Amino acid sequence: LTIQDYIRWTYSRFRRSDIFYGHGTDNPWDEAVQLVLGALSLPLDFPKEHLDSRLTHDEKKRILKLVDRRINNREPLPYLLGEAWFMGLPFKVTKDTLIPRSPIMALIENQFAPWLEQYPLSILDMCTGSGCLGIAAALTFDEAEVDITDVSDAALDVALQNIAMHEVEDRVHAIHSDMFNALSGKQYDLIICNPPYVDANDYNTAPREFHNEPQLALTSGDDGLDFTRAFLAQAADYLHDNGIVVYEVGNSEVALQEAYPDTPFMWVELENGGNGVFVLTKE
Ligand code: GLN
Repeated sequence: LTIQDYIRWTYSRFRRSDIFYGHGTDNPWDEAVQLVLGALSLPLDFPKEHLDSRLTHDEKKRILKLVDRRINNREPLPYLLGEAWFMGLPFKVTKDTLIPRSPIMALIENQFAPWLEQYPLSILDMCTGSGCLGIAAALTFDEAEVDITDVSDAALDVALQNIAMHEVEDRVHAIHSDMFNALSGKQYDLIICNPPYVDANDYNTAPREFHNEPQLALTSGDDGLDFTRAFLAQAADYLHDNGIVVYEVGNSEVALQEAYPDTPFMWVELENGGNGVFVLTKE
């Protein structure tokens, strides 16, 4: 049997299962292609005309094992391969990091226009996990110094590897910090944060794939907003006067605006593409 045969076989297994897509690909065909090529350490642009190569016994076993883990353990594909893609860039991931995904990506691609008025020289990415948002921001703003923080040492280890892979060691600094506690006295032009915000009920009823991710990165108290309440109370002190905070909070966005009308921030409406994200500026 050839690589192509194994892709088709994997595809048909995925199609007959009820696995959840959304941690990398969004359909069974892409998931099958990525799993098989990844298992063989082949690049995603591997030429089609070579897909009729035959596989060794070990290679077949490796594919079967990963398909089994994907379908029966519901392990998201990036954990099986140790790599995820974000903004067209590869990032190393482990089960200590959330799999890279965030609507903040679209804002980075737009360089935070029109909300960010000045080029940001200092950036903070809090709850960085794999480092994906902070590193993508550093590559977008190549004059900026970027602090990326996390409360998980294991996540920061992965972030450090991604910093090295993207060769931004000189400008991206991984800092162990529980929210702002290691950052006293610092101020930033841009703070981005994709914190844990899933409420207990949504978490408990989420597809099993989510339960393979670190719960620390997803939930924060019963209503999911413990982290967010503490963050809103402190973030203004860490922001330069013309700076902005870009904060992901899912469908709690509107509720928060109503619950915290008297934060030291102005809430900026995102017109489009900002699903579940809000921008804060100092009043
Ligand atoms: N529902 C979000 C997601 O899975 C949760 C992410 C988060 O808590 N930061 O993308």
